[in-house]
Amino acid sequence: MVIAADGLRSDARSRWGLDRDVRYAGYTAWRGVTASRGHLANEAGETWGRGARFGIVPLPDDRVYWFATLSTPPGTQFDDDHETLRGRFGSWHRPISDLIEATPEGAVLRHDIYDLA
Ligand SMILES: Cc1cc2nc3c(=O)[nH]c(=O)nc-3n(C[C@H](O)[C@H](O)[C@H](O)COP(=O)(O)OP(=O)(O)OC[C@H]3O[C@@H](n4cnc5c(N)ncnc54)[C@H](O)[C@@H]3O)c2cc1C
Repeated sequence: MVIAADGLRSDARSRWGLDRDVRYAGYTAWRGVTASRGHLANEAGETWGRGARFGIVPLPDDRVYWFATLSTPPGTQFDDDHETLRGRFGSWHRPISDLIEATPEGAVLRHDIYDLA
């Protein structure tokens, strides 16, 4: 038995002829973890807008994980992640902009999202 657990673009699956196409999910995603400071996020939730979503997940140790998605063509480049997030989500309900501002620029990840076809 061979278990190929090396991710979406698996070398092992490909080597064993089990490869499947990856397909773009239609959106890019930013992710961050920041301190909740006891008040930023006590509840998990996801807010939907036109072509965009924002999710909040409280973590242990007074931290909070958040993600933001935006429907964009694959490979779209953004010069400044914080500026883009402020422009797209800054007017959404609290604590969304507080979470973005509380997360240092270097701690924000962005990836185009793919899954197996
Ligand atoms: C933004 C985002 C949010 C998500 N949210 C959720 C969620 O809420 N719930 C959920 O269920 N899923 C979620 N997912 C999906 C979930 O993360 C993936 O489905 C899951 O991580 C896939 O697991 P995996 O073990 O197949 O691959 P991976 O997690 O990609 O793990 C593969 C591992 O193999 C290693 N590797 C690769 N090649 C080699 C090699 N040659 N030798 C040794 N090691 C190698 C890699 O370094 C990696 O550590 C999310 C994904 C993203 C991007």
